[in-house]
Amino acid sequence: MKPYDADLDVRGGLSRRQFMWLAGMAAAGVAAGCATNPVTGSTQFMTVSEEEEIQIDRQYSPMQFSDDYGPVQDAALNAYVNGVGRGIATKTHRPNMPYSFRVVNADYINAYAFPGGSIACTRGILLKLDNEAELAALLGHEIGHVNARHTAEQMSKGQVSNILVGGLSIIADVAAPGMGQVASALGGFGAGAFLASYSRDNERQADALGTEYMVKAGYGPEGMVGLMEMLNSLNKSKPSSIEVMFATHPMSEERYQTAVKAVRTTYASSKGLPLYHERYMDNTARLRSIKGAIEEMQKGDKALGAKNFGQAENHYQAALKQAPNDYAGLVSMAKCQLIQKKYSEGARYARQAKAVYPQEAQGHYLSGFAGLNLKEYESAYQDFQTSQRLLPGNPNTLFFMGYAQEGMSHRPEAAREYRRYLQQVQQGKYAQHAAQRLREWGYAR
Ligand SMILES: [Zn+2]
Repeated sequence: MKPYDADLDVRGGLSRRQFMWLAGMAAAGVAAGCATNPVTGSTQFMTVSEEEEIQIDRQYSPMQFSDDYGPVQDAALNAYVNGVGRGIATKTHRPNMPYSFRVVNADYINAYAFPGGSIACTRGILLKLDNEAELAALLGHEIGHVNARHTAEQMSKGQVSNILVGGLSIIADVAAPGMGQVASALGGFGAGAFLASYSRDNERQADALGTEYMVKAGYGPEGMVGLMEMLNSLNKSKPSSIEVMFATHPMSEERYQTAVKAVRTTYASSKGLPLYHERYMDNTARLRSIKGAIEEMQKGDKALGAKNFGQAENHYQAALKQAPNDYAGLVSMAKCQLIQKKYSEGARYARQAKAVYPQEAQGHYLSGFAGLNLKEYESAYQDFQTSQRLLPGNPNTLFFMGYAQEGMSHRPEAAREYRRYLQQVQQGKYAQHAAQRLREWGYAR
């Protein structure tokens, strides 16, 4: 059998993100109607109910978190950010949503919210903040998107013209942007693949709500100014590590100016509320101690995106030298090796990744992928089985489980996995392969 790093193309004309949300819509069912916006109190066209917002969140947020290398293993840091988030969430228009907050291992600069209230910020953005009030502003902004139901609004708009499109097949086609289609088989869905894109109006409203909520929670409104100042300066220098954030949350000079003005006017009486610089520095001390490694990984990601594999490898190597057990570093290095078809090296880094963070799916998935290409079908099958258990919903895993069974000449077992795959994906090279085998083996006509 041929190693299976073949490309996939099942998308058609839509952008990845459009397709993703339409698929979400199809999965959630269609319930068009009008709803009262919890923030403004006015009626708006909504096809998505609160139950559906929560369901979509549950379905997609685990995939995005895994794509961002899972929540950080530093339990104290997660608890700190979760505590700050929860303190703000109680002061909002939708205090009863099932909010949760975490830091994810990704090194690019981003924060995001799913419509049910699952919110994450990356290690990369935490390193850019100066105090807890800025963190509160960041989380407040994301909570603002949840409260104003912006994701549901964007989905409702998108759905109107594209109601017939959908299905889970898109998940098989979320290639890491810029890395070429070979990378799509590696399991990374691509930075921000599951995130909604907001409009400039959405951003204005989320900023306003974020400021309102953080001040109610007792933080100085200057935190929002500090956050906007940082984002604005990145908007001018445009490092690649912030592309996803600005693609989903449009940035402008106006957002910064609005924050400055709000401190002088609406929130003049709240000036001087604490910013908690020391507390932020204490709680992020461990993270900041590997700042050098994280910056190397950002450079590595940029080089990998530009297909400068040698350069990417050097940066990941430098990162791992500073932080040898860093899960994101190990996974990135494994991917970098596997893309270059260096399967034994890739397997070695993937095994290390599995060992440092066994609860996270990507290490197992990459180890399985390396195993298939090394014809170690039995261990590859086990890796994909673990990956499937930790993160159900990626149909590629099912295909590879079938492929591993096929490699072991277990036809009934292979046929079972291929059938499960074909229930979710009907187009593309993997689907063709699976369907062809089922025909050859007499399971289908
Ligand atoms: Zn935003």
